[in-house]
Amino acid sequence: MNSLLQLSPQAFISFLQKNNIRRLHFIWNPETQRVEASHAVLQPVADFMQHDKRDFSRHEGIFLQVTRQHNTLQGAFVHNTHRGQGAGGTRFWRYETMEEYLRDGLRLSKGMTRKNSLAGLWWGGGKGVIARNPELDSTDPRIRADLFREYGELMTALRGCYVTAEDVGTDTSDMAHIFSKTRFITCIPPELGGSGNPSEPTATGVLRGMEAALAFADGGTIAGRTIAVQGMGNVGWPLIRMLIEKGARRVFACDISAARVQRAKETFSEDVLDARLIAAGDNEILFSDCDIVAPCATGAVLNPQTIPRLRAKIVCGAANNQLEDSERDDLLLFERGIIYVPDFLVNRMGIVNCANEQYGYVSDDPAITRHLDTEWEYSIYRKTIEVLQLAREEKAPPAQTAIQLADRIARETHPVFGHRGQQIIASLVAERWYEND
Ligand code: NAD
Repeated sequence: MNSLLQLSPQAFISFLQKNNIRRLHFIWNPETQRVEASHAVLQPVADFMQHDKRDFSRHEGIFLQVTRQHNTLQGAFVHNTHRGQGAGGTRFWRYETMEEYLRDGLRLSKGMTRKNSLAGLWWGGGKGVIARNPELDSTDPRIRADLFREYGELMTALRGCYVTAEDVGTDTSDMAHIFSKTRFITCIPPELGGSGNPSEPTATGVLRGMEAALAFADGGTIAGRTIAVQGMGNVGWPLIRMLIEKGARRVFACDISAARVQRAKETFSEDVLDARLIAAGDNEILFSDCDIVAPCATGAVLNPQTIPRLRAKIVCGAANNQLEDSERDDLLLFERGIIYVPDFLVNRMGIVNCANEQYGYVSDDPAITRHLDTEWEYSIYRKTIEVLQLAREEKAPPAQTAIQLADRIARETHPVFGHRGQQIIASLVAERWYEND
């Protein structure tokens, strides 16, 4: 067993400090075809990635730093920059071991390459991961300000091979702190020229995925259908409203928040909406007698325990990583004849909304709205139909089909800048970026 990987992030920080290392990297060297560590003592971690088949896939660069204040491990995972700089949000989360931390960054950054490619964005895939130091009060605004400013300094040091954004555990005020130290960020607050909350477009994107799946399945529309929505949050709420506006016959919805359920009961007619308060972990909503199930709360809800009990013919929702195991559960749904619309295909509007912030804003911005129409080749509607058709022709499950299609698109290089992210990374390595601190 690789002992460095079993260390907690805090113990790994102590190991780095003993070795006088504050910044470090792991790089895929296309010439040697090897993962190379910035420091010889870290090569065992590079070797772990080299031999990992599950989450590592020739990630171009992984860059880490220990913050000067608050002893926190911060990282930028750059997966693939053929289509542009690596883009994706920064997660601020608790990790038990370095293996968990690294796997999350590897998996999420690869996922961003796929999401961005299928969306036709001229961006590569990347993800930020900051490991919460359990000894800190991470809700303290002063501590957050320090941490996110230092994260901004890391972005600047990386010269734009990765452009960060908001993700689980971070908000726009954290982004403002990052922005005070770097230009390589999107999703900044609207008062600083950012794009604002993307949840409404995300809900419309999920609706388009449902419409495409229905058109593919039986040529029908939302009108007259029954849909079950798990979670009435920022995405689930507008989705329910849109489904009702589109003439859904019945919408079942649930939430663990009593206030949200109460508000739903006050807002929508109970002739259409059946809103229930549930306990966390109660997945009964998924087994509703309905046409479509929309997971819009947490991940991993589709698994060998839940899939056999589904009664819907279509699953299409906003939650990230709905499949507990992306290959096994995709296949289980496929074998049951259930159409699964991959989450990373329909929940793209968060990144779409902010990815091109620096190009400015147009009312009813066509660069945004074309993702939600039914004409553009990369629109959610057209890409969903394309994936479902391909899957049918190849007798393969749709998430695997979408991944193959995404990986093909991800190999196209940016029409103006080519594979510039790789050049940036090569120059960082050549100039030993980690020493210029
Ligand atoms: P949110 O936190 O606003 O809403 C989630 C809702 O689900 C909350 O109301 C919460 O009380 C409820 N909930 C939590 N656990 C539950 C459970 N076990 N059963 C039922 N309800 C439960 O989040 P959101 O912004 O609406 O996002 C929903 C999902 O979509 C998340 O997985 C998120 O990562 C993903 N997503 C969101 C966006 C976006 O634009 N907001 C973009 C891409 C993906």
